[in-house]
Amino acid sequence: MSQEIQEIDVLIVGGGVGGITLAQWLTGLGRSWRIVEQEGELGGALKHSEYPLKWIPALPQISGAQYLAQMKAAIDQQYCYLAQQVQSISLADGFECGLSSGQQIRAKKLVFACGASPYSPFKAAERIIVGPGLARFNAIEPASRVAVLGGGDNALEHALFLHQRHCRVDLYARDQLRASSAFLQQLQATRIQVFTQCPQIELLQQGEKVLLNQQQYDYACVYYGYAPSNILTKFPLLSLPDSGLREGVHLIGDMTNAPFPSVLLTQGQAAQLAKQLDFELG
Ligand SMILES: Cc1cc2nc3c(=O)[nH]c(=O)nc-3n(C[C@H](O)[C@H](O)[C@H](O)COP(=O)(O)OP(=O)(O)OC[C@H]3O[C@@H](n4cnc5c(N)ncnc54)[C@H](O)[C@@H]3O)c2cc1C
Repeated sequence: MSQEIQEIDVLIVGGGVGGITLAQWLTGLGRSWRIVEQEGELGGALKHSEYPLKWIPALPQISGAQYLAQMKAAIDQQYCYLAQQVQSISLADGFECGLSSGQQIRAKKLVFACGASPYSPFKAAERIIVGPGLARFNAIEPASRVAVLGGGDNALEHALFLHQRHCRVDLYARDQLRASSAFLQQLQATRIQVFTQCPQIELLQQGEKVLLNQQQYDYACVYYGYAPSNILTKFPLLSLPDSGLREGVHLIGDMTNAPFPSVLLTQGQAAQLAKQLDFELG
């Protein structure tokens, strides 16, 4: 039996801070939207931010995860399709999209807010942790020997945290450390061993141990930065030969490959785009 096609103004692919903010703005502007999120819950990168840091100027004590909870409460989640992918897109009076659930949605505008994923040449495993999130350290016992790979803020922040939890931490950077000076200063006051200029690293989990260039560790944690989502390559008809995007298709948030990913920038882009879409929809 063929399913009815839902007709909406904006289909948002990705339910992180960008997608949620856009949905909230579109609601306020009286526009219809749906979010398609590949994971079982909304939130994206903010799900992994457990501590207050450089968040929202007026809310310095709020963690990313707490901020996210407030954002989620501000949108109607019946319009969010979780654990789903966009499988097909064709041009038909806008964009006709087929979801993995079989649902068909025709949207006048298409917005990709798919964020970025931790980049790693190594596959995550029980003892090889890839990407941020302090909660991932719950299984690491104090006194464990841990190799942290990376030289940026993420790597140093996680290395310092493990050190505070009495782990023996070695830090391996592919070239020089490029973390902010506050982290570098904290690092100097620790016994973390730092190895710079290490472009060639072999990592292998062997039973209860991880081998890093023949050195034995209990865990390895990889923070090599982020790679923007490449979902657009799945739908070539959305791109134009001059590497522009077809009219009606937009990107926001970490997908736009901002070198310094930021909640405020993502939310600003979402708010601005909502106004632009509202204007264009007439
Ligand atoms: C630990 C941590 C700390 C941070 N600290 C700060 C900070 O202090 N200050 C700050 O401003 N920023 C910080 N950031 C960065 C900030 O979280 C990001 O800039 C912001 O979350 C980007 O939002 P986004 O919506 O673009 O992407 P994301 O939040 O990554 O959301 C993208 C969503 O799209 C989904 N998706 C991807 N592909 C598909 C697909 N094909 N189909 C459907 N869904 C898809 C993903 O599952 C995800 O839910 C931090 C990030 C992390 C991880």
